[in-house]
Amino acid sequence: MSNPKCKQCRREGEKLFLKGELCYTPKCPMVRKKYAPGMHGQKGSRLTEYGEQLRGKQKAKKIYGIREKQFRNYFKKAERKSKATASTFYELVERRFDNIVYRLGFAKSRDQAKKFISHEHFLVNNKKVNISSYQIKPRDTIRIRKKSKDKQVFQEILAQKGSQNIPNWLSFDKKKVEGVMIAVPSKQEQETQIDWAKICEFYSR
Ligand code: SF4
Repeated sequence: MSNPKCKQCRREGEKLFLKGELCYTPKCPMVRKKYAPGMHGQKGSRLTEYGEQLRGKQKAKKIYGIREKQFRNYFKKAERKSKATASTFYELVERRFDNIVYRLGFAKSRDQAKKFISHEHFLVNNKKVNISSYQIKPRDTIRIRKKSKDKQVFQEILAQKGSQNIPNWLSFDKKKVEGVMIAVPSKQEQETQIDWAKICEFYSR
C-alpha cells in the first residue's frame, strides 16, 4: 500500500474512498489489508474519549480534503446558527463546490473535483467559479463548461456516469448534463462513517 492516500485508509482501518474508481474495485488495498501502517496485526489500543473525537475529526478532514483551519471555521459558523450544530456543520461541508461536483459524478474523487474546479472547468449558474470551498445554494445549477466537455477526461466520466449514486438533495439532468441542488443536504448512507456530534464535542472542549 505505497499510495499515500491508501495509507490514510489503512491508518483509519476503513475505506475513505479517496482514489476514485480504484476504491470500488477488488484492487483497493483495504480489501486485503485492514490494519494501520507499521502495525503487525489488527490489535489496536483502546482510545480515550478525547482520542476518539480527535480521530473522528481527522478522518472527516481526510474524507473531504479540508485543512484544519477551514474545518474549524465551518464548526464555528455552525455554532452561531440556530439549528443543531452537528447538522449545520455537516450541511456547510457538504455544500462545498468540490463536494457537489464529486457527488454529482462530475469527478471520480473530491481530489479530482478540486483540480477540475481550479482549472475552471465548471459553471455555477452559468458563471465561472474556480473556488473549491464555494458554497452551493438550493436551486444553483452546476455544469461543465462547453469547451471542457469535449476533453477526454470528461468524455470518459460522462460515459460512465449511469451508475452514479446521487443523493436525494441533488438532481441531474442527463439531457442538459447539468446538476441542480434541489434542497439542503441531508445525511446519506455514505456519511454514517462520520460522527458529526463527536467532532462538535471535540471543538467545544
Ligand atoms: Fe485506496 Fe480508495 Fe481503497 Fe482507500 S478506499 S485504500 S483510497 S483504493
